[in-house]
Amino acid sequence: MTYPTQPTASHFIDGAYLEDTAGAEIPVIYPATGERIATVHAATPDVIERALASAKRAQTAWAAMTGTERGRILRRAADIIRARNHELSVLETQDTGKPYQETSVADATSAADALEYFGGLAGSLTGEHVQLGENWAYTRREPLGVCVGIGAWNYPTQIACWKGAPALACGNAMVFKPSETTPLCALKVAEILYEAGLPAGLFNVVQGLGEVGAALVNDPRVAKVSLTGSVPTGRKVYAAAAQGMKHVTMELGGKSPLIVFDDADLDNAVGGAILGNFYSSGQVCSNGTRVFVQRGIREAFLDRMAERLSKAVIGDPMEPETSFGPMVSERQMDIVLGYIAKGEAEGARLVCGGKRLNRNGFYIEPTVFADVTDDMTIAREEIFGPVMAVFDFDTEEEAMRRANDTPFGLAAGVFTRDLARAHRVVAGFEAGTCYINSYNDAPVEAPFGGMKASGVGRENSKAAIEHYSQLKTVFVRMGDVEAPF
Ligand code: NDP
Repeated sequence: MTYPTQPTASHFIDGAYLEDTAGAEIPVIYPATGERIATVHAATPDVIERALASAKRAQTAWAAMTGTERGRILRRAADIIRARNHELSVLETQDTGKPYQETSVADATSAADALEYFGGLAGSLTGEHVQLGENWAYTRREPLGVCVGIGAWNYPTQIACWKGAPALACGNAMVFKPSETTPLCALKVAEILYEAGLPAGLFNVVQGLGEVGAALVNDPRVAKVSLTGSVPTGRKVYAAAAQGMKHVTMELGGKSPLIVFDDADLDNAVGGAILGNFYSSGQVCSNGTRVFVQRGIREAFLDRMAERLSKAVIGDPMEPETSFGPMVSERQMDIVLGYIAKGEAEGARLVCGGKRLNRNGFYIEPTVFADVTDDMTIAREEIFGPVMAVFDFDTEEEAMRRANDTPFGLAAGVFTRDLARAHRVVAGFEAGTCYINSYNDAPVEAPFGGMKASGVGRENSKAAIEHYSQLKTVFVRMGDVEAPF
């Protein structure tokens, strides 16, 4: 395979690529064929030390620049990313296996949006003035210091920028560890940030498995950890961060409900459920994988769903017409096939899909189960693959109770033409990100994040600023000090 955009070494530290072959080999597998397309090496203790030391060194001068100066660099990086969208989208497809039809509109572009948005915001970050009679106080909005970003494998370019852009806008440095499964894209982000003028050391990328992430999280120089990953990993990382009293953002997994009432526009509801279950072959944290369909329209919904899924173009992700690609790895494919087998064994009705495709790569058919009950494994656990579970319901009250009956709380959606009901339903959802007559939109201008076990903190929007900065309060006395003795 020709691989023109491949990064030139495993790590990017202090403004340059860095290789250290003493670290364990991590093969990079193209999910559409199973071929090895690159190899990176896990960071050794020496690489980790260089990453943290250079970040720490660079951060003070970066924080001393004006927000406008910092923002200009981020906006320049956004422009470079947009200009190279094709090349970066090809790389994203090779890292993840997602179809180019998706990556060309949803990955580098989303990363550029984050850099542009937080670049624009950087110049207007302020504290406030508090008048206290003749005395007064003011707050300074200060950076946290060195932040660690740890990414999942489903959106490697986007995750690097959703964390890196607000961190840098606020005057922090970031050391980013991508998922071992998709190590390439974040290196390109680092390369482009430096090309845009980011001083060396401020956005370092180190490779490795969980133990490299853990070494970063435990280092006393680190002030904040932002993780995108599963709930079990989130628990470990949150606990480790607590030992050092570090700030955290936790973007974790979900098992989100999507409620379709019988007055909904059926095609829109089916379209929303497709976007909420099969985009990125179902490997999206906020997916609405528990689809509650009001009993009267259930068969019409399932028929329409099966018909539309039959039109999915499954194949080579680089072909422009391909709309459905492979799972990210053989391991993830096996996990998902295991859940499908459990769904059948526990008595759910397989409406369509359910099989691995007979071709190279890690392809699973888009799969829909109906007659799913709340206690089945496929109703309780995050599958992270193209598997939709459809449930019946009769009343709004019943749907709400069952929708919220989960430890997760990342997202939730409702399709109905009754807008009063729509707003009542979203007010009742125990979820951080909700949709009315839509699903899985994630504009940078709106906060994104979870409630309950799905996370802590918010990414995107002005809300992210709160999670990458801290306030210092300064009290100013204008007269004499009156002490009791
Ligand atoms: P994992 O939780 O397995 O891994 C996430 C990252 O954490 C990886 O980089 C992993 O390293 C690293 N890691 C693992 N153990 C530790 C540790 N002890 N200390 C520090 N870092 C560690 O998630 P996946 O990569 O499998 O991603 C899928 C999960 O991510 C799903 O649950 C999904 O819902 C969630 N997700 C959440 C999103 C959100 O915004 N809420 C968005 C996207 C995904 P490595 O894998 O390299 O070993």
